Amino acid sequence: MGASRQLLRSVIMGARGSGKSTLALRIIKHFQLKKFSSGDVLRDNMLRDTEIGVLTNTFMAQGKLIPDDLMTRLILQELKIFTQYNWLLCGFPRTLTQAEALDRVYQVHLVMNLNVPF
Ligand code: AMP
Repeated sequence: MGASRQLLRSVIMGARGSGKSTLALRIIKHFQLKKFSSGDVLRDNMLRDTEIGVLTNTFMAQGKLIPDDLMTRLILQELKIFTQYNWLLCGFPRTLTQAEALDRVYQVHLVMNLNVPF
């Protein structure tokens, strides 16, 4: 029986402006990980004017977070493309509901929580 390689499922968390994205970029330079940013996925949808992008625009214009059900569906769908890669999520999950939805589908091995003074 061949040894199966376990893929790393990791998350970086922290308040807005805490440096999640900057640190994530540094981390992926040193490890074989794909950075997967929910903000980037949303911006890409907005640029392409997809249905999600239009909805996102509406919520963002009101300074609101994207609703959990929409966000979770979008990210879990996008993550299917990355099944063969080690990944590092950045910006998702952002709420308990999102975290629970992720946990139902993937076993997350590592969570980095940036504890940056306000
Ligand atoms: P970011 O680039 O991570 O700062 O995200 C930009 C914006 O996208 C945020 O201000 C939110 O409106 C939205 N967003 C990104 N990730 C999430 C998420 N996990 N849940 C809800 N809204 C999100």
